[in-house]
Amino acid sequence: MPEISDLSKVESNARTYAASFKQLFVKGNGMRLKDAQGREYLDCLSNAGTLALGHNPPAVRDAVLEFLQTDQLQQALDLATPAKHAFVKTLFATLPPALREHGKVLFCGPSGSDAVEAAIKLARHYTQRSTLLAFQGGYHGMTAGALSAMGNLKPKFHAAAVTAGTHFMPFPYPLRCPFGTDGSHTEQLSIDYLRTLLGDPESGVQQPAAVLVEVVQGEGGCIPASANWMRQLRELTRELGILLIVDEVQTGLGRTGSLFAIEHSGIVPDILVLSKAIGGGYPMSLIVFAEHLDTWTAGMHAGTFRGNQIAMVAGAATIEHIQANGLVARAARAGERLREGLDSLARRYPALAEVRGRGLMLGVEIAQPGQDGRPGPADKALAAAIKRECFAKGLLIETGGRHSSVLRLLPPLNISDEEIGQVLERLDSALEAAC
Ligand code: PMP
Repeated sequence: MPEISDLSKVESNARTYAASFKQLFVKGNGMRLKDAQGREYLDCLSNAGTLALGHNPPAVRDAVLEFLQTDQLQQALDLATPAKHAFVKTLFATLPPALREHGKVLFCGPSGSDAVEAAIKLARHYTQRSTLLAFQGGYHGMTAGALSAMGNLKPKFHAAAVTAGTHFMPFPYPLRCPFGTDGSHTEQLSIDYLRTLLGDPESGVQQPAAVLVEVVQGEGGCIPASANWMRQLRELTRELGILLIVDEVQTGLGRTGSLFAIEHSGIVPDILVLSKAIGGGYPMSLIVFAEHLDTWTAGMHAGTFRGNQIAMVAGAATIEHIQANGLVARAARAGERLREGLDSLARRYPALAEVRGRGLMLGVEIAQPGQDGRPGPADKALAAAIKRECFAKGLLIETGGRHSSVLRLLPPLNISDEEIGQVLERLDSALEAAC
């Protein structure tokens, strides 16, 4: 068994999760992990929101094992195969009617970043415009195009090189209103600002090809956009002939208590970006888009690993399992329960400035004491201490958001009530130790 110190000797300083959680993880079942010492953890990371059904879900494992016995292709570029056929059929059956009936799919390289690249490229090709609008706090991936749309400046050193052509709009983040208000008007101000900017011939911003948005900003601090805001954004972009790209890499497949987060508002984007959970725990990414956009030609977005058949089998099995077991509704209920527990912790620990999110995509912003009911500055050090204490008590959570001050919880959709209770108990004792 390798020692954990062996790995940290050779692995780069750029690693992230391994730097916070220094253990050798040897087993995972559902949301329970075991390390080499036999200690158990409750995993609220779910591989950054990938594992809709937790680790090693029997339904998915059985489907993959069965597939591996069949001698079918396991990697297939973008060739037609039975596994792809079955996956596409299952995927399309889940899509909103407009995309189901008039949508096209492109499988991309296996990362969410690559699907974002494809979406941006398609929008630029179709509109023959290059400008992109993204949102402050947005996260879309680490490849150059996706990075250009990222709010967080840390991975964007030499930012000028990667942000050319992208402009950042204020995202509705009422707790820390980008317009300096108490938050009650943030949403409307953000749409009004966008409308004014796009109508102003002297705004300095060229007519964009697309607006790229997350329905719930994940890495940006678990900040949900309301259904009303999403609808207004959809109307505005449609009115102005700007494509709307919705990045559901993290929110897709039940995470927010609906199969896709766009369903909360009923909007249909021009391009929908999916990855993470859609591959059932294996690498896969894709875009689904309105068929009239399909004006590009062979090879305009290629990639070797676009045909991961195991991910297609696992993805289809995951979608089927979620639907057969009512796990979307279950995630909504479990999310409410977890949120109630977090709210009650927030009443006891004043550093918990806000509990927010949707479904099982929840965040808790940690702040210094404020005044007049408003939070003080983000408390990065305390958030880090809480994360450390959680880990010591057998709970894996991530921090994100501005100054890494938001505790993020992304448990699997099938988290049991008992597990919710255990997550809250461990968090409570971590808060007691850290606060
Ligand atoms: N978009 C969103 C919303 C994401 O959360 C992420 C990853 N956290 C990505 C894109 C990029 O995905 P990947 O890390 O697979 O490239």
